[in-house]
Amino acid sequence: MRNGLVLGLTLILLPGRFSARGPLLKRYEFSLPRMGTIFRIELYSPDDAMASKAAEAAFARAEELEQIMSDYREDSELMRLAREGASAPFPVSTELYDVLAKSIRISELSRGAFDVTVGPLVELWRKVRTTGRLPDASELARAKALVDYRNIELDAARRTVFLKRPGMELDLGAIGKGYAADQMLALLQSRGIRQAMVVAGGEVAVGAPPPGEAGWKVALDTPDVGAGNPPCTLLLHDIAVSTSGDSKQFVEVNGKRYSHVIDPSTGMALEGMGSTTVIAKDATTTDALGTALSVLPAQDGIHLAQSLPGVAVYMVRQAGSGWKKYFSRGFPAACRE
Ligand code: AMP
Ligand code: MG
Repeated sequence: MRNGLVLGLTLILLPGRFSARGPLLKRYEFSLPRMGTIFRIELYSPDDAMASKAAEAAFARAEELEQIMSDYREDSELMRLAREGASAPFPVSTELYDVLAKSIRISELSRGAFDVTVGPLVELWRKVRTTGRLPDASELARAKALVDYRNIELDAARRTVFLKRPGMELDLGAIGKGYAADQMLALLQSRGIRQAMVVAGGEVAVGAPPPGEAGWKVALDTPDVGAGNPPCTLLLHDIAVSTSGDSKQFVEVNGKRYSHVIDPSTGMALEGMGSTTVIAKDATTTDALGTALSVLPAQDGIHLAQSLPGVAVYMVRQAGSGWKKYFSRGFPAACRE
């Protein structure tokens, strides 16, 4: 709702700075709830109206995308596709087609560790949060039978999607926020705002650096952070970074901790604490790869990341009472101390 959007917008106006060449640029910060988390925009602009209009348009774009990709809204395009796409090829928006095509590419690269057809398993594990009971073998088998990205058939010429198995459920929870962050940053840039950062939950897309700075500071939310162990902070521009982890979203059963990320090959939620941070050219990639690499064994994840141009990864995995850290070649040295 448009009014809700305007009223809900938090604006923090921070002290201004001069850019080297141009007019006085002021720093603005906006935040709103979107896609079940908080989205935040930081940007530099010469005037208040330009800043708030651009931020408002970016949040409106996120709302449009949520209406397309949500698995909580019965009337979202994704849910209509799940209902009707198994009977006949279903025509979809360019956005949904784009995000599904990108999802399938990450599924192929990760051999199914990332899989947007994971919906039936996600539903099973969501129930665990309320019942406190783990799914049994037959429930897992029934859900798993519906999970396979190779049963999504895309037709680029007609822009349609066909779901080969009735009952398939799609879940864009591991890629949608990154896609939204990219779209929001692109929208800000199209309005002449180049110095901007979009944070969509754990997914971050950054444009040109703030005036006079080498980059945007991004503090990584890894599970080893605590008293006496500050977060590793990266300085980034014109790039994206995501951290996939279970620091906030998990369920505990019989003293065991289960993540909200599921291994599609077993149907089981990941166990133990960990995080996977991915740097790549866009947040759609970092979001999806972050989830994919969480599922893969650490060394396989590092190898996959190193085979992809422009991708760097840093993983933290629980090892007894401590942490084991894994870095791909090219991950910034700042986190290696
Ligand atoms: P993220 O926080 O980006 O790692 O995404 C986690 C969300 O993606 C979960 O809450 C599920 O909705 C969904 N999901 C869980 N496991 C997978 C998987 N293996 N592949 C794709 N999506 C998943
Ligand atoms: Mg993800």
